[in-house]
Amino acid sequence: MGKKIVSACFAGINCRYDQRHNRISRIQELVEKGEAVPVCPEVMGGLPTPRNPAEIVGGDGEDVLDGKARVIDNQGNDVTEAFIRGAYEALKIAQSVGAKEAILKEKSPSCGSCMIYDGQFRGVKKAGQGVTAALLRRHGIRVVSEETMENEN
Ligand code: SF4
Repeated sequence: MGKKIVSACFAGINCRYDQRHNRISRIQELVEKGEAVPVCPEVMGGLPTPRNPAEIVGGDGEDVLDGKARVIDNQGNDVTEAFIRGAYEALKIAQSVGAKEAILKEKSPSCGSCMIYDGQFRGVKKAGQGVTAALLRRHGIRVVSEETMENEN
């Protein structure tokens, strides 16, 4: 069975925008056993930690990849290019280890696979996927979240 790609914050790495993590022991164990490779698209795209929280404005990750929506941080900075660069870096790693599946953090503008925030920085979620989740899916990688991974592994 090939390795999986997982959001690095699940493995206890403090790469979230607020320099915290979302550790899930089961996922961290996969990384420790060498069965999963942690990736943080936002860091790999060149953004610092901590960083301003960002949301997708005008659509979701699919639209960002198609040039129809942008990723904007809560100070109004356009960070779209960093998000796209990070998504391609994550894809490159996924392809280099032959990953067929990714377990990514739900609701993140990079990693969200079913839900993201609505782009108005008011804590409201909407259906949609993040930029990295969209790119991985376009390349045939199955993307699940911490909420949908049960019975998957
Ligand atoms: Fe975690 Fe993904 Fe956000 Fe990085 S970009 S902190 S891996 S949810």
